[in-house]
Amino acid sequence: MKTNRDSLALLEEFRTYAHQILALANRGLPRFDFLREVAKIFLDNSTCDAVELRTEGHGRWFICEGVRHPEISFKIDVRSLNAEIHGDTVSDFDVFSNLAAKLQIELNDSEITDKGSFWVSDTSQKITISQRTESTDKSFDVDLGDLYKSLAFIPFTIDDENSGLIVLKCMESHSFNDYDIEFYEGIAAILGLAVADRRTQVALRERVKELTCLYGIARLIEDPNRPLDEIMQGIVELIPPGWMYPEITFGRITLNNSSYCTQLFQEGPQRLAAPVIVNGQLCGKVEVFYAEKKRELDEGPFLKEERHLIDAIAREVSHILEHKQANKEKDKLQEQLRHADRLATIGQLAAGVAHELNEPLGNILGFAQLAQKSQDTSLQLDDDLSKIVDATLQAREIIKKLIVFARQTPSQLAKVNLNEIFAKGLYFFEARCNKAGIELVKEFEDGLPEIKADQAQLNQVLVNLVVNAIQAMPQGGKLTVRTYVSEDSLNLIVEDTGIGMSEEVRRQIFVPFFTTKDIDEGTGLGLPVVHGIVTSHLGLIKVDSEVGKGTQFIIQFPLSNRNKG
Ligand code: ADP
Ligand code: MG
Repeated sequence: MKTNRDSLALLEEFRTYAHQILALANRGLPRFDFLREVAKIFLDNSTCDAVELRTEGHGRWFICEGVRHPEISFKIDVRSLNAEIHGDTVSDFDVFSNLAAKLQIELNDSEITDKGSFWVSDTSQKITISQRTESTDKSFDVDLGDLYKSLAFIPFTIDDENSGLIVLKCMESHSFNDYDIEFYEGIAAILGLAVADRRTQVALRERVKELTCLYGIARLIEDPNRPLDEIMQGIVELIPPGWMYPEITFGRITLNNSSYCTQLFQEGPQRLAAPVIVNGQLCGKVEVFYAEKKRELDEGPFLKEERHLIDAIAREVSHILEHKQANKEKDKLQEQLRHADRLATIGQLAAGVAHELNEPLGNILGFAQLAQKSQDTSLQLDDDLSKIVDATLQAREIIKKLIVFARQTPSQLAKVNLNEIFAKGLYFFEARCNKAGIELVKEFEDGLPEIKADQAQLNQVLVNLVVNAIQAMPQGGKLTVRTYVSEDSLNLIVEDTGIGMSEEVRRQIFVPFFTTKDIDEGTGLGLPVVHGIVTSHLGLIKVDSEVGKGTQFIIQFPLSNRNKG
């Protein structure tokens, strides 16, 4: 028991408490570590047999009790703030503490200070309290057990919303007096400040961790040439320092077809996860594991700030992926543009050359044919002349194709039915397919609408595609020709199970004279011609091919061609 006789000693004792408590707050310890250390300060500096500290937060009591006997030990707990009185007797310490902390009681035989503190001198005596709220004014018997005969309750304020309570417990009765209570009220005020300070410190530290992590990510993506794998691995390594227990924290980023882990990764019993969403589509997740189980007392094993952080990391990952995807699409578009541009230039050039060559070729052909008609040629000369005629005719064929590719021949538009044209066209391939061990499958959708198109040119498209398909299946296979109507187009699919194409080949197939075939098998003009015809019909060509598996050409003619004049 304190008296006011030795005020200097009291002041010194007060200084010791205050100094130790405030120094603790600055360390930004986790909540229960902090409460345990404070309870220890009370046990070290007082003669109480036990001290119980309660702080309010997240709608709950966080409680730490330190007891002196049989040896100094600490117990922590989380309890509801809303324990209410049931029946006529208050025997629940929580309920009593709630009432005390909320300054809602009057005690029959003890004074309550203007700060709301009070003490019970002998718990084995009958204690009654009255609960005073706006709606009730009731009396209750109180049963606080009889291990501790003296109890002192000292409430304190943490911030605008939260309060706390110090409960000092002594086994001997009549252990407290006015001076003690006044002294501890001073300490309680400091403890209130310290608790608030600790919370700010912790929030600050969490914020610093979060910013350090996000800054690390920003540094990683600074270099536009850094490969995605390296960026993701870098991000995953930034995870552990952002969490409360870095040494047992493991991170993992899983994307559609790859995953990145921290060193020595292991899944743990406690997990936090956030989805990675790219352009509205789920394509992976960021996960954090604790390798050993941590208390779930607080806000689950992970802090609110840590949940925010993992969300922020997942968002960053999403942004990076979106950015990469956008860039890839831009590159692809540019490549397509360049390709179209190159084809157009080649087309113009080819058409020019073709016209120039047509003239002299016509002369060669004319004079050769004239010479053939002459009576006085030898057999040898006749033979040579017909070779000249044949070669010239072949050259004219090539030139014709070049002109079609360059869209220099006018289309003869008429209403046509694709199924009819293709059925006729395929008829000539049946025998050839048979011989080559190729199964020819026709899937023509009934009732296709007619479109305005050039019949001969459409036949040319089919022939060129089918010839390529057959040539791609030297060992036999399956050739499927399919027509169908979709929302805004009429579609032709020519699909084979042949050798397929590499990306390198696929990129060049529309370039005139590009061929992978022997001189007598290909001229490299088939697909450029298809391209010319399809574009002049305002259609589209799509190619899907896989080496060793096969190739699919999809030709789409817009249905608006139905109304074209
Ligand atoms: P050519 O058939 O005279 O070589 P094309 O313009 O018709 O010329 O085709 C160009 C190239 O495209 C071919 O040499 C071949 O490499 C590739 N190709 C076209 N169609 C197919 C297909 N169905 N399967 C595999 N490769 C193909
Ligand atoms: Mg060809």
